[in-house]
Amino acid sequence: MAAIAPIIEIRNGTKMFGSFTALADINLSINQGEILTLLGPSGCGKTTLMRLIAGFENLTSGTIQIGGVDIANIPPERRPVNMVFQRYALFPHLDVFENVAFGLKVKGMPKEERTERVNRMLHIVQLESFANRYIDQLSGGQCQRVALARALVNGPKVLLLDEPLAALDLKIRQHMLAEMKRIHIETGATFVYVTHDQDEALILSDRVVLMEKGRVVQVDRPTEMYAKPKSLFAAKFLGETNIFETTITAVNGIGTTARTSSGIQFHSSETLTKKPSEKIAVSIRPESLTFQHKNPDAQSAECVVDDIVFMGSRSFYTVRLNDQSKVRVQVQRDGRLSVPSPGDKATIFWDASNVVMLPRD
Ligand code: ATP
Repeated sequence: MAAIAPIIEIRNGTKMFGSFTALADINLSINQGEILTLLGPSGCGKTTLMRLIAGFENLTSGTIQIGGVDIANIPPERRPVNMVFQRYALFPHLDVFENVAFGLKVKGMPKEERTERVNRMLHIVQLESFANRYIDQLSGGQCQRVALARALVNGPKVLLLDEPLAALDLKIRQHMLAEMKRIHIETGATFVYVTHDQDEALILSDRVVLMEKGRVVQVDRPTEMYAKPKSLFAAKFLGETNIFETTITAVNGIGTTARTSSGIQFHSSETLTKKPSEKIAVSIRPESLTFQHKNPDAQSAECVVDDIVFMGSRSFYTVRLNDQSKVRVQVQRDGRLSVPSPGDKATIFWDASNVVMLPRD
């Protein structure tokens, strides 16, 4: 989705809990109308960042602007944001309609307008026929949609979603991801979404903010972050990858060449600013490796097949290189191609475009 303008701007945002730095010097612009996902391992500061935007915590230093206004002194209920919590926090003694209407009622909105707004919201989340059900008569996915409707009913500019699908099982989660995208388009709100599930982040987001130990380490579109991680941490955290420890042997106009101590050579068409004899890591995704030689310039390594895990449309091979290091190869099912069996000697091939060279940790 096309981004228009930043709606949230965080500048030099630092949050301390006592002497512990939960967030360190965060600089982040969130664009109006986008779905931005905060992704990172447990404890990296995702929820803290959301709570700061919502107003449940205050920055130790730095600023947050929403719509160009510094929000430091604006209490949570007066910010143009709303938050959906992991456990939804729905009222069990109220029915679906009353749950969604609750906030509007507290604000003193006249009954007629309230009813119209709630009905419109129930239509968007496709729960019109459940308006009079109590919360304990709903499935997990339906509770999730009530929570979304309740958070969206007063038209917040920004919806903060903290692991909203964590309590649902896999099938419903996949369905709700599609629902969430649809609801996002219908409401036009900016969604800031917290997850530690990389698949959710890849499927849902316009942009992903990858965090590590209280810092933002990369902000990119999901496809970019997956194909061009800027650090070993990003390469390993988003998707699966094979990492090779190498030393640069040449950097020139046609790219960079590096090799492992056992002599496996990698060439990338990127010209790095590094020099020969510097150590770097090479990352190649399992799906970028193949047993078939497609391109005359393909690079290769000899191996022995250790193990095969069949997963329906694809299989994961674990192969051992001459230096005994193990590498994972993903093979799409294709009846026309012959593939090696466990114990077979084989050759793996890859293209220069799939070689990602990264600083070592
Ligand atoms: P998770 O994925 O496990 O929810 P997270 O990335 O959302 O993790 P946060 O909840 O933001 O992480 O916590 C970031 C760090 O700040 C953690 O080390 C946490 O223990 C610490 N922290 C959070 N809230 C407080 C608090 N009120 N007092 C002290 N430390 C806190």
